[in-house]
Amino acid sequence: MGFVFNFKRHIKKNVRPTEHTSTVMSRIVVLGGGESGVGSAVLAKKKGFDVFLSDSCAIKPEYKEILGRYAIEYEENGHSEDKIFSADEIVKSPGIPDTVPLMQTIKTKGIRVISEIEFAGRYTNAKMICITGSNGKTTTTSLIYHILKSAGLNVGLGGNIGKSFALQVAEENYDYYVLELSSFQLEGVYDFKADIAVLMNITPDHLDRYDHNMQNYVDAKMRIIRNQQVDDAFIYWMDDPVVTKEIEKLKPSATLYPFAETKHGEALGYLENHKMVINVKKHRFDMEQELLALEGTHNLYNSLASGIVAKLLDISDENLRQSLADFKGVPHRLEKVAVVRGVQYINDSKATNVNSCWYALQSMRTKVVLILGGTDKGNDYTEIEDLVKAKVRTLIFMGKDNRKLHAFFDGKADAIEDVSSMQEAVSKAYRLAQKGDTVLLSPCCASFDLFKNYEDRGDQFKECVRRL
Ligand code: ADP
Repeated sequence: MGFVFNFKRHIKKNVRPTEHTSTVMSRIVVLGGGESGVGSAVLAKKKGFDVFLSDSCAIKPEYKEILGRYAIEYEENGHSEDKIFSADEIVKSPGIPDTVPLMQTIKTKGIRVISEIEFAGRYTNAKMICITGSNGKTTTTSLIYHILKSAGLNVGLGGNIGKSFALQVAEENYDYYVLELSSFQLEGVYDFKADIAVLMNITPDHLDRYDHNMQNYVDAKMRIIRNQQVDDAFIYWMDDPVVTKEIEKLKPSATLYPFAETKHGEALGYLENHKMVINVKKHRFDMEQELLALEGTHNLYNSLASGIVAKLLDISDENLRQSLADFKGVPHRLEKVAVVRGVQYINDSKATNVNSCWYALQSMRTKVVLILGGTDKGNDYTEIEDLVKAKVRTLIFMGKDNRKLHAFFDGKADAIEDVSSMQEAVSKAYRLAQKGDTVLLSPCCASFDLFKNYEDRGDQFKECVRRL
């Protein structure tokens, strides 16, 4: 095994080890049979490894079909320890916490555990543009992909979005990848390097997976800059106190590209006289904020970060302007659904925490009928109290148990209604909204009490609105 590890350590990033793998067979075990795990297994098989995939739950039929097609040995509904502990290296899917007994035993046995990103990164020479943060990852990743693709670059989209990175490395030949990386995916990277790293923000999230220790979560996020050198870029929101503290502490080797809402300090991307400005490579790009497809302050950050990436990759001003203006947005994130009798309906079902709802309310320019509620994750609604008082006409509580919402908001809004289905919520909103208002679904909560997931909740909202 020592030999295998030495061999692996000596694989320089971006050197394809195919000729070695045909002579030195080693065993890769993949834990988790979802998008990420199946992609890793296919890539490992294609690279000549002895591959075994194990999942403690049932594997979806479409993934079993792929495993079958590539003749990959797998098991579901349980783990065979003997088959797992014989691994030279384990690729763990991001959904599996380190605390489960199996992972603890693997740790004591000293078997190296990596993420799909680390594994797939070994087999591509493409430029890596990697995006992380507590909020805004999917929007920013999708926007960057849209800009690069519209400019004609040969680019793949992956990580937490869509098709797995590993499967694309196995089956495609892209020059660039735009990857959305969660803290769980970052935990398992060692030699992987982002050529361009983007860090949107860090606010408390997923603390249940980090021993309720915020610093553990922050450390995972900061792995986005691991291995970066001066020729690499680190783009970040400079008004985030957590991020700036980490930068002081870690002193990144990469070249820094901070952005902010207003021009101050070292900001290279900012808003000035209602224009979004980007100063990169001694060139000034600007564009009226009004022309940006994405509205609201949080989305300005997403546009700024994406614009810096674009200018670092020499996308022309014309192409960048066009893409920032015609981006369609991502479903369930401040998604405009329809205007019915002068009332705009907006689906922000992905707002599963209070902070996201704050940004949504802050970007509203009209009075709002706000639909919120669901599975509470220990929310403190103080953060949106002032915005609710200033902008909300009616609150509609939609959840199995609305007691906590009542305890906080009773007496703080003009009108409050309770509903227990989306149909009821949209009908009530339709009756209570006045011409010129916005009906906003931005629930602050998870959706599992009444819906399958946030997508189901958003889809039901859209369906009900379209039937009005
Ligand atoms: P993520 O992938 O990190 O969960 P999304 O792009 O899916 O982020 O957006 C999730 C929610 O966070 C949306 O409801 C949106 O309103 C809010 N949001 C988007 N971008 C930002 C940002 N830069 N800062 C804070 N909140 C944001």
